Amino acid sequence: MAAILNRLQSFLQRARARLNHWLRPPYRTVIARDSLPKKLKRKTIYVVEDDGFEEQAAMLCPCGCRRVLHMNLLPDERPCWRLTRHRDGTASLHPSVWRKKDCSSHFWFRHGRVEWCRQIDT
Ligand SMILES: [Zn+2]
Repeated sequence: MAAILNRLQSFLQRARARLNHWLRPPYRTVIARDSLPKKLKRKTIYVVEDDGFEEQAAMLCPCGCRRVLHMNLLPDERPCWRLTRHRDGTASLHPSVWRKKDCSSHFWFRHGRVEWCRQIDT
């Protein structure tokens, strides 16, 4: 009986975490012409465009460390991310974003939401 209750409890915890993930508002997508604003806002992904080309995406690290993450979108430079803008105004990045130093945040950014792979600094 205890085993069944434990499994039920763990199922409910996972279901609640999933629901909270989708109930939170997604990141806003902001197009920045030519350059990034000096101060970036939380829960916002900036897409820097120059001459109609998407050059980079930038956001504050979602772990809260306040570092600015820059993701190159130009295909002839490495590393390179692909940005997809969705009809609902959200964006996705491919592949995942992984900081190899400092906070070591590792996450996917899909439909304006952060899906953690790994986060040491919590
Ligand atoms: Zn961080």
